[in-house]
Amino acid sequence: TASYLYAIEKAQSLNAYVAVTADQALDMAEKSDERLAKGEGGALEGVPLGIKDLFCTKGVHSQAASHILDGFKPEYESTVTQNLWNDGAVMLGKLNMDEFAMGSSNETSYYGPVINPWRAEGGNKDLVPGGSSGGSASAVAGWLCAGATATDTGGSIRQPAAFTGTVGIKPTYGRCSRWGVVAFASSLDQAGPIARTVEDCAHLMTSMAGFDPKDSTSVDLAVPDFAAAVERGVKGLTIGVPKEYRVEGMPEEIEKLWHQGLEWLKAEGATIKDISLPHTKYALPAYYIVAPAEASSNLARYDGVKYGLRVPGKDITDMYEQTRAEGFGREVQRRVLIGTYALSAGYYDAYYLRAQKVRTLIKKDFEDVFNDGVDAILTPATPSAAFGVADQDMATDPIKMYLNDIFTVTVNMAGLPGIAVPAGKDGQGLPLGLQLIGKPFDEETLFAAGRVIE
Ligand code: GLN
Repeated sequence: TASYLYAIEKAQSLNAYVAVTADQALDMAEKSDERLAKGEGGALEGVPLGIKDLFCTKGVHSQAASHILDGFKPEYESTVTQNLWNDGAVMLGKLNMDEFAMGSSNETSYYGPVINPWRAEGGNKDLVPGGSSGGSASAVAGWLCAGATATDTGGSIRQPAAFTGTVGIKPTYGRCSRWGVVAFASSLDQAGPIARTVEDCAHLMTSMAGFDPKDSTSVDLAVPDFAAAVERGVKGLTIGVPKEYRVEGMPEEIEKLWHQGLEWLKAEGATIKDISLPHTKYALPAYYIVAPAEASSNLARYDGVKYGLRVPGKDITDMYEQTRAEGFGREVQRRVLIGTYALSAGYYDAYYLRAQKVRTLIKKDFEDVFNDGVDAILTPATPSAAFGVADQDMATDPIKMYLNDIFTVTVNMAGLPGIAVPAGKDGQGLPLGLQLIGKPFDEETLFAAGRVIE
């Protein structure tokens, strides 16, 4: 814990942490030592972790990287973080992220962009770590924590993992409790870990997961020992390769890496099968209706009364307006506008309801291939390697940024588990990731196949 705190201090230029809880961390570590000395201790005893700012941590900075939650220190602890502390893990601090988890580059944070510890060979340009869990990915890749919590609504665990050469898994919807995690789009949000290896992720997820009566969408299923699945291998498994993921303009090196990944799995005894997921092309537009719609509803609670920032106005309505105008960043305001429009009377059927129907078709595509004998699906994690800070201008061209999510959003729309594993590097020496998509609640196969690729 002390050495990670030292590393955090030295690496402030990465801007990965928004709050460091040094005293509390040392105290937790000391208690871990005492338990270990007595021969006690949990599965993660003394393991120092970074926590995404989206998780409520009792009495500690929890602002979803937003100005509107200024000074908010919750009275309660999220179930996922409580599970980690119950197993002996140590909290180093809270990690930077895109504001309310809306973004793919960590540039929408109120605290400014996070820097990716990776640089192109010979280059000195700062690169983004991806988003929205950019602080989590950068801190893990930069050795500023042993592992981190993250969340994934449309790719926010897997895309940053791919951009930083780390491993990230989005569990099946319902596997980890959403209680105490600031809501973005409730029907898509899932918590999961980012760590340096598949095995580390498996250990973290075993602790984070589990039924929680406080989350009505939490599923009452026993949590397997995910670490036990890591060395299981892929012999006899059928891996699907969806033709719709060969998108136009994808760099050749990503295409090659995808092929390489299939060869690795084949060499270990898997069978490769060409498959089709015909509704893939509708996933991104449908996601960018469903996610903002749910966000606009979830964000209605930030009104200057209950939490954080209050900007005084001449009456209560004016106070609401001033607070929300100043407290929310541009991207969050854009989502609230899109979402409110999509949900409004007269447009609801044309946009939100239609997007939900498309969602059902996407889910059915996956059900069909899984019913047809496919055990897991291999795709690239992202259509490019990490790009430069300020390279993709969200203010003028948000659609370009949204295209980063093209391979990841389908998984959230269908509620499936997906893992991103580092698989190679591009011509500039930057990490590239592959994604494995699994059947509902079959994260074990993803850990086993991910281990073969990493
Ligand atoms: N980049 C996507 C978005 O901005 C996904 C974010 C996420 O998964 N939290 O909505």
